[in-house]
Amino acid sequence: MIPNFPARSYDFTSYSNAVNYIGGEFQEPRSSKETLPVLNPRWGKPISNVVMSAREDVDAAVVVAQKAFEEWREWPIRDRAQVLYRLRQLMVDNIEELSWLITHENGKIFPEAKAEVEKAIECVEYGCSLPNLASGNQLEVSRGVACEIVYEPLGVVAGVTPFNFPLMVPMWMLPQALVGGNAFLLKASEQVPLSSMRLAQMLDQAGLPKGVFNIVQGGRAVVEAFCDHPSIKAVGFVGSTAVAKAVYGRASTNGKRALCLGGAKNHLIVVPDADVDVTVENVVASFTGCAGQRCMAASVLLAVGDCDHILDAIKERAAKMKAGHDLGPIINEASEKRIRGYIDDAEKRGAKVVLDGRAQRGTDTGYWVGATILDGMSTDIPAGKEEIFGPVLSVIRVPNIEKALEIENANPYGNASSVYTTSGDVARRVMDNVEAGMCGVNVGVPVPREPFGFGGWNDSAFGHGNMTGWDGYRFWTRQRKITSKWALQKDATWMS
Ligand code: NAD
Repeated sequence: MIPNFPARSYDFTSYSNAVNYIGGEFQEPRSSKETLPVLNPRWGKPISNVVMSAREDVDAAVVVAQKAFEEWREWPIRDRAQVLYRLRQLMVDNIEELSWLITHENGKIFPEAKAEVEKAIECVEYGCSLPNLASGNQLEVSRGVACEIVYEPLGVVAGVTPFNFPLMVPMWMLPQALVGGNAFLLKASEQVPLSSMRLAQMLDQAGLPKGVFNIVQGGRAVVEAFCDHPSIKAVGFVGSTAVAKAVYGRASTNGKRALCLGGAKNHLIVVPDADVDVTVENVVASFTGCAGQRCMAASVLLAVGDCDHILDAIKERAAKMKAGHDLGPIINEASEKRIRGYIDDAEKRGAKVVLDGRAQRGTDTGYWVGATILDGMSTDIPAGKEEIFGPVLSVIRVPNIEKALEIENANPYGNASSVYTTSGDVARRVMDNVEAGMCGVNVGVPVPREPFGFGGWNDSAFGHGNMTGWDGYRFWTRQRKITSKWALQKDATWMS
């Protein structure tokens, strides 16, 4: 079968079914007949069905990938990177199509989808630069004796990705893993399996040998098979904390490298001297962008002292965000219910819904929650401490920076944190003391752009290092250390 990706507007559009991609062929699972509908969240209707593969499909993909790996690893790194140069150009040439595809399977509005493709392209560009970065080291450590480090591929490796960035999150893993010389198995989120198929087509067109990149569609069974398969050497995972922790435990117990990024509850600290315009634009963009379904989204605003002038302006700006136009839908009905549940519960417990997005809808049939602000919140209320993953901002009032840091650092997550201030001293104090891996000063979504690595701390990440950047290359490769005695002098040294 040759899948096609026809949408060029928000109009409801059907797609071909999402199937596996093994050895360069789109194909059905070996025996599993189970499928799930893939919904367009804007319309609340299925646009496709995705196959739910079983362990035997992972086994089959590993056999094909292992064979492809033996040839791929022999390609010089510069030749492997050339595939990414061509992939980059294909992504640039097809950016509209890719963005509409993301909009349809994930729901995010077109400009957000386009920004996702642009960020994915940036990740590919990092992969293109690897031949210039990955030269290893060599040093003459004593007379006539040299030590050398060489980066080698691991073999067959696997990645598991979430629903909220169907194209970008796979690109957190693929460039480093492929240029590093590995063969890759991807399990995309079963809620957004189509972008990965378009990616497979483009990689093929870019000249990647068949079998080096494979997709096994499905859910938990596929992930568990990745963790258990003795020939899969490393597992990269991005998703919720509970699953990240379980996958990390299972993969590492089975002797694999694992790096598993989890959920988040990101805090913003706002102090009265903050620049109002910058703070308002950033905070609103941060908690409403992608309808709050970003691991970097602002979730709790810690208002230090009298910040009413800033909070009023945030409310006024957020009230202008119209569902369906400025704000996309929620991924599915269960998520919409969960988000509404958090808002209803907070209200019952005494929080004030100062901006209420519960009545907002972009369409009659999709899944929607508009921008919502809860004031008078505390960490005793679930919405103030748990991941909501929707366009909801909880405001907690605190008397000073110390209290703000205390609340933030008591939260088990550690993905992102930002401070809004014009005081260098306040900014420095927060940056020095906050428990978060990715921090911002007057920046609402402090994603480290390439080449800086992406990754949180604490319950937001399990495993060592960052997912992107140089850490990513190190994660998907192993270092051989070679010591050579080139001059065979006879005098003894401590290492002769
Ligand atoms: P999820 O954990 O439900 O699913 C992620 C992946 O795991 C999917 O491919 C899914 O099929 C698989 N999966 C689900 N349940 C599983 C199980 N029991 N065992 C094995 N695999 C399982 O996450 P999601 O709802 O797709 O994505 C949203 C979550 O991802 C949020 O918590 C968000 O914060 C997080 N996220 C984190 C980052 C980050 O960089 N830290 C980035 C994006 C998303």
